[in-house]
Amino acid sequence: TDALLIQNLRKVYDGGFTALKGVDLRVRQGDFFALLGPNGAGKSTILGIVSSLVNKSSGRVEVFGFDIDSDLAKAKSHLGVVPQEFNFNQFEKVEDIVVTQAGYYGIPEKRARRTAEHFLRKLGLWDKRQSPARLLSGGMKRRLMIARALVHEPRVLILDEPTAGVDIELRRSMWQFMQEINRQGVTIILTTHYLEEAEALCRNIAIIDQGEILKNTSKRELLQQL
Ligand code: ADP
Ligand code: ADP
Repeated sequence: TDALLIQNLRKVYDGGFTALKGVDLRVRQGDFFALLGPNGAGKSTILGIVSSLVNKSSGRVEVFGFDIDSDLAKAKSHLGVVPQEFNFNQFEKVEDIVVTQAGYYGIPEKRARRTAEHFLRKLGLWDKRQSPARLLSGGMKRRLMIARALVHEPRVLILDEPTAGVDIELRRSMWQFMQEINRQGVTIILTTHYLEEAEALCRNIAIIDQGEILKNTSKRELLQQL
């Protein structure tokens, strides 16, 4: 089974704007995959639909073979999502944010605390565990979003512009972190409008513009064509 399968996905927003014009995508298990395209191309719309925050108009989406229409809970259990906007409770403590998220997946608290500790340490946030999220720097909040997305140990992690507005040093350490969890078997899908980011990290790249996939190929082939 593929980590992600998207067939003929269409999205018309209220008001009539067509953001996705029949998108097909397939991401294999273990891949490190980039969805590359300019602002407004439809990247966030795709991720929003996959994570069931946005309703699709038509088409099919499967996560590890589980259809988001008929098997949403199972699809979600395999999926970790890092949206662009910080959407945690700013007044909650860092550790609690991660542990609370685990609760949504029915993970017992003891195990949730252990996994939260693991990822908070990995992401350099353990010293901040008792701090309310609002006191974190932007880069720390970004890493908190990643820890929260991983706490139920999903098989695929989707990140929307993970390094937008992040300084070069933190960008490099986030790249290393994503590569490390990919080596451990987690499929990574990210959106970016930086060719260099896709080039540095990804094995396969799809290019999207104005709601259409223009190219879907390995990085090596893509770079030969540029
Ligand atoms: P990207 O993530 O590639 O920047 P988006 O998926 O955010 O692109 O947006 C794709 C297009 O859909 C853009 O033209 C955007 O203005 C439009 N769009 C996004 N969200 C909405 C919405 N809620 N209502 C109407 N149009 C929207
Ligand atoms: P706030 O009140 O600050 O918005 P919430 O506790 O409602 O905080 O949500 C925090 C995060 O947890 C959000 O990103 C939301 O997507 C996620 N979340 C909330 N409820 C659920 C749920 N039932 N299943 C999975 N994730 C959830």
